[in-house]
Amino acid sequence: MERKKILVVEDEVPIQELLRFNLERRNHRVEVVGTGEAALGAVGAFRPDLVLLDIMLPGTDGLEVCKQIKTNPETRRIPVIMLTALGEEADIVAGLELGADDYVTKPFSPRVLLARVKAALRRTEPAPQAGAEELLRIHNIAIDPARYKVAVDGREIALTSTEFKVLQLLAGQPGRVFTRYQIVDGVHGEDYPVTDRSVDVQIVGLRKKLGEAGHFVETVRGIGYRLREEEGE
Ligand code: CA
Repeated sequence: MERKKILVVEDEVPIQELLRFNLERRNHRVEVVGTGEAALGAVGAFRPDLVLLDIMLPGTDGLEVCKQIKTNPETRRIPVIMLTALGEEADIVAGLELGADDYVTKPFSPRVLLARVKAALRRTEPAPQAGAEELLRIHNIAIDPARYKVAVDGREIALTSTEFKVLQLLAGQPGRVFTRYQIVDGVHGEDYPVTDRSVDVQIVGLRKKLGEAGHFVETVRGIGYRLREEEGE
């Protein structure tokens, strides 16, 4: 993969070193800062291609840093991957809703972290099929937004329009976790309101209708849902 600039925001020195070592081994250019204030400065000065952001920081915390990155038009497109501890689901959900692109829980394996970094960087590349009306294929699922049709292994399945929109939203960014609120927001405009509880009901219906392919719609416990990314390049 092409050399990228990665800003690591982390106050614990052993984790800083682990991240630097692994990212530099992949040929990335790495800058490490230990506070939220320094992170906000470095986002402007270093102009990273991606930010790895610890949530629990002294002073300005990671959520505030994330918010500032994602509300500034100049920096909002920079992918942010949060580094969180187990049991911080509320922070993860808050971070995702502030615009964070992904999260990794500590302790993490370098392999998993690097895969998430790669996936987040890939998602920022302009999609070859940029048109919203174009056929979207993932795994054995084909989604035709223009006709509101979905086929699994070439066989058409009947989804409600809400199920269709949920699938289209998840499939638009495979591997990305969406919170229930983000799903509600994403399918907004339906003729009846979708609540976050009813998202669970939509997912159950969607999985059932997808049959074998239903397991690609994954539950991320305490956080939300995602469509599993395809393996390999
Ligand atoms: Ca910390």
